[in-house]
Amino acid sequence: MKSTMMQVPLSTNMILERAGTYFGERQVLGRLPDKRYASRSYAEVYRRARQLAQALREELAVPRNEAVATLCWNHAWHLECYFGIPAAGAVLHTLNLRLSPAEIAYIVDDAGDRVVIVDDVLLPLWEKVRPLLRASNPRLVVVPYAGGMALPDGALGYESLIDRDASAYAYPVQDENEPVGMCYTSGTTGQPKGVVYSHRSMVLHAAVGCVPDLFDLSARDRVLLVTPMFHANAWAVPFSALMAGADQIMPGPHLGGEDLLDLMEHAQPTLALGVPTIWMMIHQALEAPTRERRLPKGMRMLVGGAAVPTSMIANFARHDMHIVQGWGMTETSPLGSVPVVKPETLELPLSQQHERRAMQGIATPLVEMRIADETGAPQPWDGQSSGEVQVRGPWVTGDYHGVPRDPAKFTADGWLRTGDVGTIDADGYMRIVDRSKDLIKSGGEWISSVDLENLVMNHPDVAEAAVIAIAHPKWGERPLVVAVRRAGAEVDSAGLREFLRPKLARFALPDDFEWVDAIPRTSTGKFLKTRLRELYRDRVSASPD
Ligand code: ADP
Repeated sequence: MKSTMMQVPLSTNMILERAGTYFGERQVLGRLPDKRYASRSYAEVYRRARQLAQALREELAVPRNEAVATLCWNHAWHLECYFGIPAAGAVLHTLNLRLSPAEIAYIVDDAGDRVVIVDDVLLPLWEKVRPLLRASNPRLVVVPYAGGMALPDGALGYESLIDRDASAYAYPVQDENEPVGMCYTSGTTGQPKGVVYSHRSMVLHAAVGCVPDLFDLSARDRVLLVTPMFHANAWAVPFSALMAGADQIMPGPHLGGEDLLDLMEHAQPTLALGVPTIWMMIHQALEAPTRERRLPKGMRMLVGGAAVPTSMIANFARHDMHIVQGWGMTETSPLGSVPVVKPETLELPLSQQHERRAMQGIATPLVEMRIADETGAPQPWDGQSSGEVQVRGPWVTGDYHGVPRDPAKFTADGWLRTGDVGTIDADGYMRIVDRSKDLIKSGGEWISSVDLENLVMNHPDVAEAAVIAIAHPKWGERPLVVAVRRAGAEVDSAGLREFLRPKLARFALPDDFEWVDAIPRTSTGKFLKTRLRELYRDRVSASPD
């Protein structure tokens, strides 16, 4: 027997068409550079994305399956690019504006970008990138985000480029495995590498992302995208939100704690996403209120990109804001796992529920997950044995753009080696212990920097903390706690150590503390441990022998 189903290739154009047909009245609410609010309907996004597609094809002659880059904040123009570039048969390549000009130039060259669509307010950055390009010579299209700025020589204005009738525009006919977008990994080991998503992977990921135990997205939602659209496509939520017909709220460059609270008050999101460090900052702003605020009740928050401390889950729950943690990476589109809450979990005391939610959880639908030791042997699901987390699925990358297949990144049977170290318990819930390179080995015992950070951040006077390894003549490595005090708090190293003592094995109890004003961050807002390691490279642990 043969299946009788139609062979319809999956395409992000289907998502755009559906939004244009059924959700034209839904809104993208954004903030302009001067903080004014501006909104655009999905009907306009639909029309303008198609105009962009037609212009890229007809006026700029962008060849099919070639990359068109964006160097933009989160706003409605960027959303148009998310759909207009693929609708032209081209590949949406989001550039991370927090990288150095040299890194951006490397990435533009590597991707072979034909066109770069850049915010007018980011032209000074682009001017630093351009002279560093070696291989590519992209056309420049300037988004009038602030408006009123002169165009550089040879550049095109976004609005005049798309000013055309595209009502009869026909999408190119494409196979579902053709590329739709690309993002670069952070390159903490070696040069950044390109991950290329397909129409098929993006549509499947967008659809599954809407299920209740993931983003739980519906046409009644208002999604606040704090995660930059250049960070793993804002976790591909713009695709899921358009598919579901949910409103989107875009903060632009206004990412401070007070700014985000203002935006939440104004826009009343039902769901917000961001990395833990952003929420730590928001929590500090919440706890030191400048005035009474009317914040959204019952808001869900999808927090991922780094481990979410249990204390953060509890702290926000007190404000009727509910954290769902997601684990994933650029290579996994990024949804890899989530700590799905089963009814049994809801019967547990609140503190244990929060601990459960602080786990990285079970594999998302259509993704498989396992842990393996250095020899590749599968590790038992006992919650104790740890191993490298490996994943496989239709939206997990099987390769990197333009580089020979790297056996260190993929297993012989085709699974992605994530470089994360985790345990899996008998119920299948995974817990990240560390990235392999972040583990601390003290006197032959492994110490998890993630666990230690989690415990330190449970101290009510600690705002943020990161843990790295420093040298010790006898023990090899010892943990150094780098911490930020909450405003007005007075906890000191001895006090923090006493707080930790009953919670830790003796060898894991840190003797070294450093109090700082702020912890350096990566381009995506996570704690930058490589910088901390540089800063404290020569520090020798004071632990007794
Ligand atoms: P990078 O952080 O290297 O720029 P990604 O954004 O792709 O690149 O990050 C992927 C990595 O982030 C994962 O391999 C993992 O180490 C970490 N990560 C993501 N989500 C979580 C989470 N919920 N808990 C712990 N670590 C996480």
